[in-house]
Amino acid sequence: MQVTEKKNKTLPIDCKHFIDGQYIPSFNQKTFLNINPATEEVLGSVSEGGELEIDLAVKAAKRALKGEWKQFTSNQRAAVLRKIGDGILARKEELAALEAMDTGKPYDLALEVDITRSAHNFYFFADYITTLSSESHMQDQTALHYTYRRPVGVVGMINPWNLPLLLLTWKLAPCLAAGNTAVMKPAEWTPMTATVLAEICKDAGVPDGVVNVVHGFGANAAGSALTEHRDVDAITFTGETKTGSAIMKAAAPTLKKLSFELGGKNPNIIFADSDLDEVIETTLKSSFMNQGEVCLCGSRIYVQRSIFDEFIDKFVAKTKELKIGDPFEEGTKVGAVISKEHYEKVLSYIEIAKEEGGTILTGGSRPASIEKGCFITPTIITGLSRDSRCVREEIFGPVVTVMPFDSEEEVIEWANDTHYGLGATIWTNDLRRAHRVAHQIEAGIIWVNTWYLRDLRTPFGGMKQSGLGREGGIHSFEFYSELSNITIKL
Ligand code: NAD
Repeated sequence: MQVTEKKNKTLPIDCKHFIDGQYIPSFNQKTFLNINPATEEVLGSVSEGGELEIDLAVKAAKRALKGEWKQFTSNQRAAVLRKIGDGILARKEELAALEAMDTGKPYDLALEVDITRSAHNFYFFADYITTLSSESHMQDQTALHYTYRRPVGVVGMINPWNLPLLLLTWKLAPCLAAGNTAVMKPAEWTPMTATVLAEICKDAGVPDGVVNVVHGFGANAAGSALTEHRDVDAITFTGETKTGSAIMKAAAPTLKKLSFELGGKNPNIIFADSDLDEVIETTLKSSFMNQGEVCLCGSRIYVQRSIFDEFIDKFVAKTKELKIGDPFEEGTKVGAVISKEHYEKVLSYIEIAKEEGGTILTGGSRPASIEKGCFITPTIITGLSRDSRCVREEIFGPVVTVMPFDSEEEVIEWANDTHYGLGATIWTNDLRRAHRVAHQIEAGIIWVNTWYLRDLRTPFGGMKQSGLGREGGIHSFEFYSELSNITIKL
């Protein structure tokens, strides 16, 4: 297959830091290996950054804030952002192949979702910045008040491995649109697309030092160094809730502005009056897309009792049809999970489910036909109580639990019985019920009769322990800019 051949030709792919417009290794030449979770082959080596590399990058970003970047008008920044979007699309097959090799996700998914949406992030924020208006208030005849937005400064970006380029560009596009500079730390598992993005930014005319990438690990490594650095003005982080908590603590002494997109355990509530075929089609995606490694996946499925058996029969049958295996093979819907460690973690939850009295209706192990790689067959579990660990804890893999419910009040209580509050999906054709339930579900992103439908103007983020702040449209600018109010006495 063409893409697979292209992939083989490019190995090994070594990832260096990108600091002040140049690719550089670590000072001590330290590296770690990047492994393809689908094949277990070594993709290449990755420079391992620490305090010194972070400091170099932050210094470059701080200098760049005062350099030619400062003179860019919003129209000029928008033009650069559009060029970055074009640059991503021009290299979309290459980026999709890198993303598939790094993460184990299907190549087609990477191409259609991760890479295409990454380019769109830049196009969207390019348009947004040129239409952003300021507030002004006339106070009788005495004073004119108006708001003035300026960049926050050097923004540290700490990213997860599940949607590497998509989530990184979701941060970088508004960050640049607002005139900031960035030091990005990609997840250690997925360094490749961030490395290429730095080059695309340079080619698009981003001045040196504005975009920097430092590879490395999180705790007591590059991640901590970025979080603790006194010249980093803000940290935007997407990842696990417990990491968010550690970052908050580490950022406290320097009082950085923080934006967190954290974990979730999202309910998918299916009422008996919904269109079952549509429900099944979308629920397959909301359960198993990207191997279930999407923070928005609906891993707790609640089905009204009168349609429970029919739902289960159809859902299990369709799940068994999902093609699992080589991410580069056409038609593959489920690839490998990110790493051996994560593979073990997901399988351990399936064992816990068995111990807790759950019934595995399909999946529950690696596919018998695949010998290598971190593959787990899409897994559906029933018979668990609401207190079971598999129902309460984020598994972040191709595993869902399904439970029957009787009343609206009951399912709302169950849906909210969690420390998380990221997303929720409600399926019903009763308009009043849709609104009534949506208003009571404690989540930042609620879909009715759909899932993963996005409009980048809308607020994205979680409540409770799923996040801090919102991203998207004006909400991104609330984070990436500082607002001053100027009052003129008349
Ligand atoms: P993670 O928290 O383990 O790691 C994320 C990043 O943080 C990595 O770059 C890592 O190196 C870094 N890191 C780890 N410890 C650190 C520390 N002490 N200081 C600074 N940096 C540190 O998360 P993950 O396993 O990569 O990603 C999966 C998690 O991300 C899941 O919980 C998922 O729900 C969440 N997620 C949330 C969203 C959202 O929008 N809410 C989106 C995607 C993923």
